[in-house]
Amino acid sequence: MSETIRRPGDTEGNRLDPWFGSYAARARNLRASEIRALFSVVSRPEVVSLAGGMPNLKDLPIAELAESAKQLILHHGAVAMQYGSGQGWEVLRERITEVMAYDGIVGADPDDVVVTTGSQQALDYVAELFIDPGDVVLAESPSYVGALGVFRARQADVVHVDMDQDGLIPEALEATIRGLKSRGRRVKFLYTIPNFHNPAGVTLSESRRALITRICLREGVLIVEDNPYGLLGFHSDPLPALASYCPEGVVYLGSFSKMFAPGFRIGWAYAPHAIRDKLVLASESAILSPSMVGQMAIAQYLSEYDWYGQVKQFRGMYQERCEAMLDALGEYMPDCRWTIPDGGFYTWVTLPEGLDAKSMLPRAVRGQVAYVSGTAFYYDGRGTDHMRLSFCYPTPEEIREGVRRLASVVNAEKEL
Ligand code: PMP
Repeated sequence: MSETIRRPGDTEGNRLDPWFGSYAARARNLRASEIRALFSVVSRPEVVSLAGGMPNLKDLPIAELAESAKQLILHHGAVAMQYGSGQGWEVLRERITEVMAYDGIVGADPDDVVVTTGSQQALDYVAELFIDPGDVVLAESPSYVGALGVFRARQADVVHVDMDQDGLIPEALEATIRGLKSRGRRVKFLYTIPNFHNPAGVTLSESRRALITRICLREGVLIVEDNPYGLLGFHSDPLPALASYCPEGVVYLGSFSKMFAPGFRIGWAYAPHAIRDKLVLASESAILSPSMVGQMAIAQYLSEYDWYGQVKQFRGMYQERCEAMLDALGEYMPDCRWTIPDGGFYTWVTLPEGLDAKSMLPRAVRGQVAYVSGTAFYYDGRGTDHMRLSFCYPTPEEIREGVRRLASVVNAEKEL
């Protein structure tokens, strides 16, 4: 029984895994994200983590949620504990269209909504439907590490498009699409995070929204609009979603993870009919149906609880934390640059010339502070002079202390 299993394709270097030769080629593209690799370090109590993007749930009404989950299973257990539709529970899809109205998507048909296990799964379905190995996907420069991981797993060729304080730059988008086309490359879709960008912290201006949808429509490029932070603006309700300009050209991804909580793992895709049909097939193939109990709990939360009041409370909490971070950056790290977020969880910091956030990270952790190196958010190794700082989880005092520690690491680095 102890005999080592040998398979064709085994090589000396991977003798520890007897199944190495059996993996599909694409499995080689699965990688731990730089953020996951940091998890064990940042959970040490002495480290101030400005790394993770975990929502802060300290003010959630846990006792009320527990009671309503109990009532749900007691009174509707036969449905809640059963399989459901692959597209998602109709009642929740109806509620989701009401949530999307806050993003300017008014009158959406619940039949065009597909419920997923977080918007992360919706991203995976989109990738499955559209990406063949070598296909071009456009993404902001930088972009969400979890999306880049999905695209990498599907062997996409991600081309980054420049952004500034007002988000993705339309002229850069147009030039990139045209340049790719002139080289015979077909762009499958633009992946974009218009609101409170992860990691850049910026928001796409209203005038650019119209322009970008027009460019993509004209060039035949589908837009995948990822909007998990949209309701978490500090000063106002969200700007209209790209999908509100052009529903036929956009797959919109939403999530309850940040406006409520990620624990039920419920998100959604809102898509043109034909794409919606394929997303449902992808869902049935991957999971048969999303969790009924999770969907019902969220539908209940949306109809029985002042969920929008909760969103406003979250906004105030995150705004206070963001201000603590920006103040501390101004005080302790004046020779860095950073974006000024109008909502969400992140700011994007540019280090002084010549510093490398990736190689500095072990020294920062020794100095008891953690961040995510900018390289995690690029497909092509760029971003060494950047870092993403999150202000969502630590208290304002911890944030201040974290930035103070970070500043001493950066200052020591300049002396090296
Ligand atoms: N998109 C972005 C931009 C995110 O930041 C995240 C979570 N960090 C997700 C998608 C996935 O979120 P979830 O699966 O929890 O909905």
